[in-house]
Amino acid sequence: MISPDADLLLEIVDLHARVEDQPILKGVNLRIRAGEIHAVMGRNGSGKSTLSKVLAGHPAYTVTGGSVRFRGADLLDLDPEQRARIGLFLGFQYPVEIPGVSNLEFLRVATNARRGELGREELDTFAFEDVVRERLTVVQMDPAFLERSVNEGFSGGEKKRNEILQMALLEPVVAILDETDSGLDIDALRIVAGGVNQLATAENATLLITHYQRLLDVITPDFVHVMAAGRILRTGGKELALELEERGYDWVDQELAVLEAV
Ligand code: ADP
Ligand code: MG
Repeated sequence: MISPDADLLLEIVDLHARVEDQPILKGVNLRIRAGEIHAVMGRNGSGKSTLSKVLAGHPAYTVTGGSVRFRGADLLDLDPEQRARIGLFLGFQYPVEIPGVSNLEFLRVATNARRGELGREELDTFAFEDVVRERLTVVQMDPAFLERSVNEGFSGGEKKRNEILQMALLEPVVAILDETDSGLDIDALRIVAGGVNQLATAENATLLITHYQRLLDVITPDFVHVMAAGRILRTGGKELALELEERGYDWVDQELAVLEAV
């Protein structure tokens, strides 16, 4: 029996997944420890969103090989709700609108599910309003957004702020943020990044998925991974993101061609 590695929050080993008959992930390896911020970069279509959805347990994706451990437990064994409850958070690239469901009530139900897991008491509507109001400051959000339907008619920036508000309430162990920077103007980007930075602690970890360097100007990653054709082609420090910005992704294609020729 190997000794438990308390710092290791997420361990992805040789992960393969397909959607319908199409293989998308072709052997992803990634280890994320407490206190770390990781960035996964890569061209459109390289499999970044697929990776996040497979981790969250999206039913359209089938795992065909490999393993994922979340604090030592088999993540792939759990249904999506259980994954969320134990502290895996996914901020979507395209947050869904849920007409007819109050944002406040949606956030309360999700927060209570997580609180149950953490051994904290459930919050009724009144107690929750106090908690959520205090958390609104993390994303500088107007309380009026709580009274509306989830994301309905929210601008791109407002949806992303609402995702970070959710994250602030759920206190995830591992937060995966898929293209959180897309569609944000510079002010919204700063607010969202400020929220992410504020929520990062020595006990949790963040996985940022992005294809732009600009998010990484405001959130400094410890590790940058370059994804191409469903696997991680290279890992480096924050300077790798700058290199990508400068050189583009053409060298990635060349490395990939070499790999695929073997
Ligand atoms: P990225 O997020 O890096 O842009 P994606 O993970 O969204 O890449 O997509 C990787 C590949 O998988 C693309 O070729 C995409 O068309 C395909 N793909 C992803 N999800 C689906 C789906 N639900 N149905 C069909 N193809 C999909
Ligand atoms: Mg994507």
